[in-house]
Amino acid sequence: MRFPLDEQIVGGYDYGVKTSYNDFHLGVDWRARYVPLYAPKNGTIIWTGYGLQGGWTIWFKSDGENVIIRWLHLKLWSILVKKGQKVKEGQRLATTGNTGKSDLPHTHEDIWKNGKVTLKAEDTINPHDYYKEAKEESLIKGDDMVVFNYNLRGNPTLYLQVGQLSLIPIGMSYEDFKRSFPNAKEEKLSDEQFEIFEVIPGAKVLND
Ligand SMILES: [Zn+2]
Repeated sequence: MRFPLDEQIVGGYDYGVKTSYNDFHLGVDWRARYVPLYAPKNGTIIWTGYGLQGGWTIWFKSDGENVIIRWLHLKLWSILVKKGQKVKEGQRLATTGNTGKSDLPHTHEDIWKNGKVTLKAEDTINPHDYYKEAKEESLIKGDDMVVFNYNLRGNPTLYLQVGQLSLIPIGMSYEDFKRSFPNAKEEKLSDEQFEIFEVIPGAKVLND
């Protein structure tokens, strides 16, 4: 099994949290800005299409278990697979996006047991449990703070993102930030861009 994205970061509602429009968020909103979505296992595409809420969507059934996985809010024209198609673990299925009811690029993923999507909480599997074997170490929660440095035209600026809120520029240099938060975990995304995971325990933010 592989995790279907390259990073495993909650970028919105986590599984089981109360949202403004239902009592129990039935999946996880993974932070994923226009990045590849891969098949987590060998399986079959059982539906692709558009919904007003979910935007461009894929339904996938893995081989050898009675589980359906859905990914929502995919990018327009990015779906590379068709209903009925067999896919291999790691095969690219689409690109994540911002279609349907979505404020920032992400994918909502939910996982259903007993081979049917009932929209009932008791029929869901917590994606964190499902992907336990996949790379769990990079997980941070929607309440955690993520600081990005965007080095645009040689002008580095630090931005703060909490959950799925928009990026807020923080008036601090990278050097000052590193001095203030020496334990912040840093991950380089590209030559020009890195992100720092500064986890503030108990920090609660309403990302509604
Ligand atoms: Zn969601």
